[in-house]
Amino acid sequence: MKSLFFGGIHPADKKELSAGGPPLRRLEPKQVSISMSQHIGVPCKPLVGVGDQVKKGQKIGDGEGLCVPVHASVSGKVVAVEPRRHPSGQEIMAVVIENDFQDTPDETMACHEDYRKLNLEEILAIIREAGIVGMGGATFSTQVKAASSMEKVETLIANGCECEPYLTADDTLLRNEADRVLAGMHIIRHVLKPERMVLAVEENKKEAIEGLKKALEKEKDIELKVLPTRFPQGAEKQLIQAVTGREVPPGQLPAAVGCAVFNVATFAATYDAVVQGKAVTERIVTVSGEGVNHPGNFRTPVGTSYADLLEAAGGVKAETCKVITGGPMMGYAQDDLSVSVIKGTNGVLGLIENVDTGDYACIRCGKCLTVCPMKLQPLHLFEQIQLENKKGMEYYYLMDCIECGCCSYTCPGKLPLTSSFKAAKQKLKEER
Ligand code: SF4
Ligand code: SF4
Repeated sequence: MKSLFFGGIHPADKKELSAGGPPLRRLEPKQVSISMSQHIGVPCKPLVGVGDQVKKGQKIGDGEGLCVPVHASVSGKVVAVEPRRHPSGQEIMAVVIENDFQDTPDETMACHEDYRKLNLEEILAIIREAGIVGMGGATFSTQVKAASSMEKVETLIANGCECEPYLTADDTLLRNEADRVLAGMHIIRHVLKPERMVLAVEENKKEAIEGLKKALEKEKDIELKVLPTRFPQGAEKQLIQAVTGREVPPGQLPAAVGCAVFNVATFAATYDAVVQGKAVTERIVTVSGEGVNHPGNFRTPVGTSYADLLEAAGGVKAETCKVITGGPMMGYAQDDLSVSVIKGTNGVLGLIENVDTGDYACIRCGKCLTVCPMKLQPLHLFEQIQLENKKGMEYYYLMDCIECGCCSYTCPGKLPLTSSFKAAKQKLKEER
């Protein structure tokens, strides 16, 4: 099948490493460190102090604006409220809880078997209160995204592409618990009232596709769309183009072309919140890479350290040179394994190949122009960043870069294109 969007690449997907690993099991860490920043926006303020007893699912941080509350992922005693290392590399306030292994549940949130009796504002309020964010890694408030899409959406898309190499967390969810995803799609449909619902999956998830075909025999109003495997098809704008043929104009949101996209895990979390009365306290995380002894997928309480996760996967090999949060294309390298899982953590990888040679030069081959899914000119952008020319960066649309990594992957000159774009974007944002 040919690509359904401009540019992109087809790296070796390496998904067999974790997809064939041990069965899904829930980790039970002795201690969790719950970051107050697990969403796009200002961090939450802690609502508990050292010495407090907390229940599993209890709200322990909240704030205003785009802020999304965070919850205790285990029951136990708060032993610290202090800045801790975040996956972004910053020191951010966290609530540290000593697990009492009792799993005492917080029962503040109610169950709503028949969510159709709720009005739309009530459903959106539950989604916020449960702490739901874009679970594919975007971590934007799901309540705000849904509220701002109301009455504008013709096509609702469930994103099950998981196009990053190595990652199989969404695949595992779809293979084992597709019913939660489908139920969540119906709830969001009740809010957004689209004419069409599509569950999009890449063709490399054969077992999940077979299971979904069976499940959807009874669900005639959800369309399964099997897409050719191509990176970054899971990026919002590229997925919309692949599913509908429509291009979201630069600087605009999916609603501009009548679409809304949510990750499959976000739909599952919506079902848990509205029907089961459960906040986001855990997620499926892929632990994989050639540097990991026993790759697999784990049901992981939010706040579990990377050290505990890697240990659950049999530890790392001596030759492991890099640990990454997320996939190898768009993820962040980590130098501290005390960093903890947040709601958007879909993978932790141990890699043995070090691609950063530090020895680079542009040979003007033009390959980066052909793979950039945003139709940018990475070589010129890189030049402007080297020159520290802000007008030039704007001229070449730096802020439209989705940091997908396709240009770096393709570049024979080994230029650190994506990392320099990420850093320049961050600098411009801070200056603004
Ligand atoms: S990282 Fe940015 S510039 Fe490079 S291919 Fe992706 S969108 Fe284009
Ligand atoms: S792919 Fe790399 S070497 Fe080729 S033009 Fe782009 S920046 Fe230069």
